[in-house]
Order: sequence, then C-alpha cells, then structure tokens
Amino acid sequence: STPLLEVRNLKKHFNMGGGKVLKAVDNLSFAIQRGETFGLVGESGCGKSTAGRTIIRLYEATSGDILFNGQEVHKLRGRNLQQFRSQMQMVFQDPYASLNPRMTVGNIIAEGMDINHLYRGAKRRERVVQLLQDVGLNEEHANRFPHEFSGGQRQRIGIARALAIEPQFIIADEPISALDVSVQAQVVNLFKRLQKERNLTYLFIAHDLAMVKHISDRIGVMYLGKLIEVTTSDALYANPLHPYTQSLLSAIPIPDPHVERSRERIILKGEIPSPLDPPSGCPFRTRCPHAMTECAVTMPAFKEIVPGHYTACHLYN
Ligand code: SF4
Ligand code: MG
Repeated sequence: STPLLEVRNLKKHFNMGGGKVLKAVDNLSFAIQRGETFGLVGESGCGKSTAGRTIIRLYEATSGDILFNGQEVHKLRGRNLQQFRSQMQMVFQDPYASLNPRMTVGNIIAEGMDINHLYRGAKRRERVVQLLQDVGLNEEHANRFPHEFSGGQRQRIGIARALAIEPQFIIADEPISALDVSVQAQVVNLFKRLQKERNLTYLFIAHDLAMVKHISDRIGVMYLGKLIEVTTSDALYANPLHPYTQSLLSAIPIPDPHVERSRERIILKGEIPSPLDPPSGCPFRTRCPHAMTECAVTMPAFKEIVPGHYTACHLYN
C-alpha cells in the first residue's frame, strides 16, 4: 500500500560561509506506513532533528521529495500547505521551552483549533477538557500556566496540543530525552496508547537506541547526516549489520538471554568528525573497527542486504 510518508533523497544543506557547506541531512530515503512508528536514531548532531523539521516544513529542503499521502509536501503553498499542517504535528524535545509561559494550558492546547477556526465557546472548552483527560491530566489544569507543571506533565500538555486538530502523523523529536528516567516510560506508554486509540503514525526521533526499542516498528540509524541502516526493530536488535549500529547496541544491556549477539562492549575510537568536514568515502571509517582501504575511497551504497534490511557498508558487497 502507499506509505503515509515517503522521503526520497532528502537533502538539507546549510551554507556556513567561506565556502563551507553543512550537509546536515544528506540523501535520506525511507517510507513510513500508516499506523507505524519509525524510530530515527543517532548521536547529537547527526541530522535527525533537522530531518524532522525539514519533513514538517519548518525548514525548506535543499532537494529531494517528501510525499505525504502521495502529495508532494515540498511543493505545497498557501491553503494546501495549511491543510497539510493540520495533518502533521510536532512534539518537541524541551517541554520547558516549547510552551508559551504567558498562556494558560487551555489556550496552549486550543491554539491550533483557534487558528483553524474549529471550535468556539462551550464546544472548545469541552474539547480542551477531553484532550487533557486523554493525556492523563484534568479539567482544573486548563486555567493554570506551564511553570506550575513538572517536565512530564508539560510534555503531556505538548502532546495534547499536537493532538488538538486530529493529525494523522506526529513527529516526536526526542520527546522523552529531557525527562526524568522515572517518567520516560510513562510518556512512551502514553504515545503508544494514543497511537492505538487514534490510529496515529509516528516518526519518533531519539539519540538512544534503548529509548526507541519499545515504541518503534522499524528503526533508521543516522550518522553524519546519512542513513546507515534501516530495518525492523526486532531485526536491528537481533542482527545489526552496520558496525556503527553494532557499537551502539553493544552499550545496551540485553534483557533477553535468547537474543544472539555479542555482549562484548565495542568502544569506538575517536570522536564524531565535524559534519563540516566529513571523512572521504564511508562517513564512519575514521572510527570503524572494520575499515578497509576502499572505505576511504567510495561511499558505500545504501542497499537491501536481506529482505527489508538495508545498510550502507562495504562489508556486505
Ligand atoms: Fe566500516 Fe567500511 Fe563498512 Fe564504513 S564501509 S562501516 S568503514 S567497513
Ligand atoms: Mg536534536
């Protein structure tokens, strides 16, 4: 079936002056089916947030295609763009910075409805109360201000705001990274419940593979602006192909003794290179334990190695 979202060869490059170009997102291609959760994972600076912001058109793509329901999002203007924006919403990483401190929670949640002239008066109030309840808050919270809430509660408010105009698709950009470990699981469970109840589709961005395992159907791993591996969550954890994914996973304890993979921790040498000055050939080669001569010469193609499992690495040629 037609994916709800399809991204083809997406690039977002920033001109940094002095002839320097930051290739924050470089040739990303993936698709997300309706009702699916796609986890996008990588260390900070790998381009995952930029990818999310480009898909939702907070940034203009440098090149490439973004298809939503088969519509070319990157070409939408005016009313069509407005219409698209009501279908796709974002939940941000920092629940402290992303809520206007001068607005009541009720008005924050209703903002999208107000912009789209959806509900008024008692009906609007009813919707706000319902949304608060849907995210585990209650009616009396509507008249309060963001500073009166904990981080976890603020993220619930951010989720209610995103849901207010009934989007089909939510981009969640590290929605639990800033929260206490004790509330992270609660917020992940809220995302999961809302997805079931509302048939939502998620792009769930995270810097940590452990965080996305329980919510993602499939996962894409990014390194220096490029997707280096994509497969189902189960296949990624059981049989990671790319040496970078292998190293990320080796840092996570394995709760299931039947999972066959090395428990040996793979410590990478060096730091992530500057995205302004990436290595030639494979972007991971300066830290890869398996790097070969050709890795410095050519960028490995992103290929399907086993059905549904893609990676970009010369080891699989
Ligand atoms: Fe390592 Fe070479 Fe594969 Fe890159 S292409 S991940 S350097 S083996
Ligand atoms: Mg980020």
